Amino acid sequence: MKNIADRLNQLQSRLRSLENQYHRPPGSVNLLAVSKTWPVETIEQAYQAGQRAFGENYLQEAENKISALSSRDIEWHFIGPVQSNKTRAIAGQFHWCHSVDRLKTARRLSAAADKNHPLNICVQINISGESSKSGINEYNAAALCEQIVELPGLKLRGLMTMPAPADNLEEQRQPFRRLRRLLESLNATGLNLDTLSMGTSHDIEAAVAEGATIIRVGTAIFGPRGG
Ligand SMILES: *Cc1c(COP(=O)(O)O)cnc(C)c1O
Repeated sequence: MKNIADRLNQLQSRLRSLENQYHRPPGSVNLLAVSKTWPVETIEQAYQAGQRAFGENYLQEAENKISALSSRDIEWHFIGPVQSNKTRAIAGQFHWCHSVDRLKTARRLSAAADKNHPLNICVQINISGESSKSGINEYNAAALCEQIVELPGLKLRGLMTMPAPADNLEEQRQPFRRLRRLLESLNATGLNLDTLSMGTSHDIEAAVAEGATIIRVGTAIFGPRGG
């Protein structure tokens, strides 16, 4: 039975070899450890193994962990649905928010953000247009991004997606390719986005192949949730 440190090491070497295979610069794919449902002690184990970026979906659950681990040098990423009444707490405690899909949410995060420490933002795109109800339609992304870049306290970094599950590499690559092309088209209009947040435990290779800069991995590090 493997521990968290072994899994993290294995995952990092897999990322380096996939970067090489798909002609990505070494170290260009960053691992976000998705620690939802896991307790502070589990996060601490990953931290001791060198992991610094952690992703959480539920604010209330995250707040306890963030305060318990406040002495640690952790970068916290909010990746769950953003409720309007939670924007102040998210802006105050997280370094990133990957799941912005409405201007109203962005405005509220902006109003609450510390102007000296901008909150990094990804716009969540509903790329397959089906399963997931979160995320904006890709055709509306340009307008939303243009408004978000104007908001103080926010730094628009890029796009995030959580596509419908698919079981072969080529099918998994399609939505990620669309997200990459969308980012490229936004950059061609003058935006300066450097982040593609895409890929989870089951489609890591597809995500690296299509240009992911952050992959959000839970199960492959911590094991099955609730199992
Ligand atoms: C849970 C979750 C992940 C991680 O999924 P795994 O299959 O456990 O790797 C990634 N992104 C989001 C938005 C999630 O909710």
